[in-house]
Amino acid sequence: MNKRIWLSSPHMGGNEINYIHQAFDSNWIAPLGPNVTEFENDLKSYLQDDIHVAALSSGTSAIHLGLILLGVKRDDVVICQSMTFSASANPILYLGATPVFIDSESLTWNMCPIALENAILLSLKQNCKPKAIIVVHLYGMPAQLDVIEAIALKYDIPILEDSAEALGSSFKGKMCGTFGTMGVLSFNGNKIITTSGGGALVVKSADLKKRAVYLATQARDEEVHYQHSEVGYNYRMSNVCAGIGRGQMEVLDRHIELRRNIYNFYVAFFTAIDYVTVLKAPSNDFVPNHWLTTILIHPNEKNKNREALRLHLDSLGIESRPLWKPMHLQPIFSSYPYYGSSVAEDLFEIGLCLPSGSNLTSHDQKRIALALESFFNK
Ligand SMILES: *Cc1c(COP(=O)(O)O)cnc(C)c1O
Repeated sequence: MNKRIWLSSPHMGGNEINYIHQAFDSNWIAPLGPNVTEFENDLKSYLQDDIHVAALSSGTSAIHLGLILLGVKRDDVVICQSMTFSASANPILYLGATPVFIDSESLTWNMCPIALENAILLSLKQNCKPKAIIVVHLYGMPAQLDVIEAIALKYDIPILEDSAEALGSSFKGKMCGTFGTMGVLSFNGNKIITTSGGGALVVKSADLKKRAVYLATQARDEEVHYQHSEVGYNYRMSNVCAGIGRGQMEVLDRHIELRRNIYNFYVAFFTAIDYVTVLKAPSNDFVPNHWLTTILIHPNEKNKNREALRLHLDSLGIESRPLWKPMHLQPIFSSYPYYGSSVAEDLFEIGLCLPSGSNLTSHDQKRIALALESFFNK
């Protein structure tokens, strides 16, 4: 029996276990400790910018804290890319704020700058200036950051950059996660690196980091007893998980290279099939981390479509997955405003994520190639 091939599964480098041993040997089994500090330092130097990193329990908690630090309150408006994972948008509802969803553009599948500006203008007309813009880099592909930043600057609205899928991606030589007023990373099990579960908030000052860590550790005042003047959260990363993160940082660039090889394999395979397109960087300004390779299967005379391919791969023990279903089409979010046309919706109908893990063996890749060949009669 062939083992199931996953979309993206954890890929340990080997050293992770040594950092975990250090945590056990020193009994630092807590939501603080040397691994947390060092993991934050590793991320800070990797992102190569004047930034500060707070390691947290998840990407979702990082988005929640980020919105709190940006001052989002009940009934505020927060603009959010529609095509994304629900974790980008849920924290808006945690705060009782109103999400306004924005369509994608077809080059990067991320936030459409034109629809974004329309949404801002209409909100301003209604005397309701949006408090933040949540931009996502789907599948590791950087959004059109220069255009979106210019709009954010023009209307003086902070960007919360959801870089959960884009650690290691860059735009015009600058790392994703460092563009926004705040940035978010995720180390969930299927992300490009994992701490088994975890995330980080990237901020621009030591003071903001201090405040993020304070809120993430129950907002405890400086007293000998437990005293609290604000609502706190239990959102800090544990020293054990951070040990995994330190080991993962040692292999991050190597794993990106391996994912790029898999992407190149898919690009080569699909060049001969004119009704399939692979999502590619629009120019050299965009450098994706190739977290997942994604394709569109356009309507064609052979009647091959996304769902048929997904089922075919599944029957051969190969996981693939439709693109993120846009938030404005989700039952929980369907009553909120949406700006744009049907770009995100159309992508969702015909798009598929293919197995892209850095731990795919050559045998796995051979199986995938055979499965694709049999489906496309190549
Ligand atoms: C994974 C992910 C998150 C959430 O991260 P968790 O660590 O799973 O909480 C947020 N946004 C996007 C786009 C993601 O892919």
